[in-house]
Amino acid sequence: MELCDEAIKELSSIYDEESMDTFVSLYFDGKDRKFIYRREKAVMAVLKGEELDNFVKTMEEIKEFLGKKHAGNVAIFASHKHAYFKVVDIPVKIKNLLVVDSSPYIRPLVELTDTWESFTLVLLNTNHAKIFSISCGKITEKKRLSAYIMNKHKKGGWSQARFQRLRKGSIHAFFVEVMEELQKYANANIIIAGPGQAKYEFKSMLPKSLQEKLVDTIDVDIEDEHDLFEESMAVMAEKEMEEKKDTMQHLKKEILRDGLGVCGVDDIIEAARNGQIELLLVEKGYKLRGWICENCQAVGKGTAKECPYCHGKTSEADVIEEIIEFAERTDAKVEFISGDEIKNLGHVAALLRYK
Ligand SMILES: [Zn+2]
Repeated sequence: MELCDEAIKELSSIYDEESMDTFVSLYFDGKDRKFIYRREKAVMAVLKGEELDNFVKTMEEIKEFLGKKHAGNVAIFASHKHAYFKVVDIPVKIKNLLVVDSSPYIRPLVELTDTWESFTLVLLNTNHAKIFSISCGKITEKKRLSAYIMNKHKKGGWSQARFQRLRKGSIHAFFVEVMEELQKYANANIIIAGPGQAKYEFKSMLPKSLQEKLVDTIDVDIEDEHDLFEESMAVMAEKEMEEKKDTMQHLKKEILRDGLGVCGVDDIIEAARNGQIELLLVEKGYKLRGWICENCQAVGKGTAKECPYCHGKTSEADVIEEIIEFAERTDAKVEFISGDEIKNLGHVAALLRYK
């Protein structure tokens, strides 16, 4: 599991059981402190009593953290009442946002992981290899390997043929070593890169289980890491787009034959609550005002003074965020799509696990 996915899973499972507005979710670019001050003032004007007291204490903790730490892009989820404080480093520029709710506001984080699908990158030539893991757009070097390989036939006494055989043998041994390391770190997507033929030889040695995960090979100089990162992310973005197109086609077919495809907010809410969703598709940027029941966690669009199911008290909520949280809690994959197709399907759609 990747770092970001783990964080989302954890965050989606947390909420205030009394449905009080106790969680602060702050997405911060590390620069605009005035933004925090402004939002803080606005929220304090709205909250009262225990919620206000908790908000002030939570913000103190957040500001203390921001005061002593770096100024990079960061997402902080915190609640003094629940003694909860979670920081997720964001590798790209994010839009400032401060939300107070009964649960962490995870949508921007989920959208971000959807944009930056994680992958494993192997950069190698015949005697050097590096394995990188890229998650949420963040690059981590996992392993660096090198071997001494004779490149020139210097020593006397050896025939050229014998030299070549020995050289081939030691390259092969090195590739086996790299492959064993790759097996430890590889996630669902692999990209192999490097100069010349080495990457193709390495590729042909991979067992089927790794071959299946191979997204692309990239021709690049061994020193040229920066360009490689950019190019490999572009490769992943293209793959993601192709997959989304396919998913959309598949979904439409399933809806037409009354199979495992559903669409529209009401049907999706029900499917999400039942844990039926395998893959949730959400229109990028779409929000829907609605309510959540503080007693039974039922969700609906529009307004409701009391819950139609249990007559419990309701509070205002973004229906789409609630659907995403339900989906994450039940291990569904969440993807964001823009364009008319998803809009016409009612802004949200899903492929179900079962019916
Ligand atoms: Zn209810």
